Amino acid sequence: MIAEQIFVAADGALLILFFAAFGAVIGSFLNVIIHRVPRGESIVLPRSRCPQCGAAIRPQDNVPVLSYLVLGGRCRACRAPISARYPLVEALTAALFALAFARAGLTLELAFDLAFIAAVLALIFIDAEHMLLPNAITYPGFVVALAARVLVPRLDLVHLSGYPWWANSLIGALAGAAFGAGTLWLARAAWRRLRGVEAMGLGDVKMMLMVGAYLGLPRTAVAMFLAFVIGAATGVAIVFARGERDLQTMIPFGIFLGVGATVALFFGDALLNWYLQFFV
Ligand SMILES: [Zn+2]
Repeated sequence: MIAEQIFVAADGALLILFFAAFGAVIGSFLNVIIHRVPRGESIVLPRSRCPQCGAAIRPQDNVPVLSYLVLGGRCRACRAPISARYPLVEALTAALFALAFARAGLTLELAFDLAFIAAVLALIFIDAEHMLLPNAITYPGFVVALAARVLVPRLDLVHLSGYPWWANSLIGALAGAAFGAGTLWLARAAWRRLRGVEAMGLGDVKMMLMVGAYLGLPRTAVAMFLAFVIGAATGVAIVFARGERDLQTMIPFGIFLGVGATVALFFGDALLNWYLQFFV
């Protein structure tokens, strides 16, 4: 019996390692997406090159995280520094993929979770670098999120009797999308009134369509609460650090929405239950 348990535990550990390695490889691909999608370039061809000297990156120099460490963070050909974003995205994707497997196990839900994590990570880092959230990610993300809620139903708010599970789940997803996108749209309108400035494009509103549909309304509320709190704290920190009185510094809000969405994916239900216990 004990031997059997050790065997099962070893199996689980191997699978966690597998998903971490898989995440590192997907993270490497996300780096290509983060670099090329905002520039309107193909994500398939040509092969990756050093942006400084144009040297093609050899397969042995393209191993996630490890190549960066071996090369000391520099291009092999011209010694130009490589952005720390590359190993960071790879390591982050590896950790989140392993965590997602630990949470969902080998299920269809895991496949959708991994896709969601990858999309959110791409959006976070594209917004950080380019201050934009491409439709090429948010639109398909919204459609895949709706499909996920039909194929892997989640009943967290509405449950209309007489309708099948998937229909209730789909209504819940649409409610989450409407709440996420609607709240952000209202916040933007309020900001515009208050400051008389155009806040940003509609990318963050579209991002919340995707996030809201995937997480459902309760977890989307957690994600947005976290995003506003972390965003406000960061804004205050920047004002203090730079001694600016006026917060005109443009902060890409997609970063905070992405962080909130990722935390809510893993801990949204637990945070909500913890919070709601004070009211019952
Ligand atoms: Zn180079």
